[in-house]
Amino acid sequence: MMLLTLRRWLRARITLGWALAKHVMMGPWAGRRSDPRRWLRRMGAEALGPTPAGNWPRFAGSSRCIGCGLCDLFGSEALPRPSLVIRGSARLPSDAPHVSAQTLAALHAIAGDVARICPQGVQVDDILALVRNNQEALVLAVAAGGPAR
Ligand code: SF4
Repeated sequence: MMLLTLRRWLRARITLGWALAKHVMMGPWAGRRSDPRRWLRRMGAEALGPTPAGNWPRFAGSSRCIGCGLCDLFGSEALPRPSLVIRGSARLPSDAPHVSAQTLAALHAIAGDVARICPQGVQVDDILALVRNNQEALVLAVAAGGPAR
């Protein structure tokens, strides 16, 4: 067992060392590879935008849902089970385009009611702000020639 672990450790170091040596040796001929714009373009193509700065303080309050389902009392035709949306809400920039304006409006309509009864004090307004900030960030990124969806 010890020998197997040692072999894997050694192989990992050799593989990493070889990759580093190739990178250093090929550096002068592979200038494009170290160009961060290429990487940023790839992120843009995958809609992996950066997290808007205003979102960071909102994550804690919006992520406490334990799925008790109490807020489903305020379900509507537009949003039959609010708890599912709250729990699985699009917190990543790349997910934001999938949230419809109708869903956001329905969430906004029940935000006060959820705040009154939610045992975890989940801040629905923070979820709305997260999604909207992400959507705006993607719109700006598209306008700047970034993510295209
Ligand atoms: S009431 Fe609060 S904790 Fe319960 S499912 Fe709704 S948001 Fe989550």
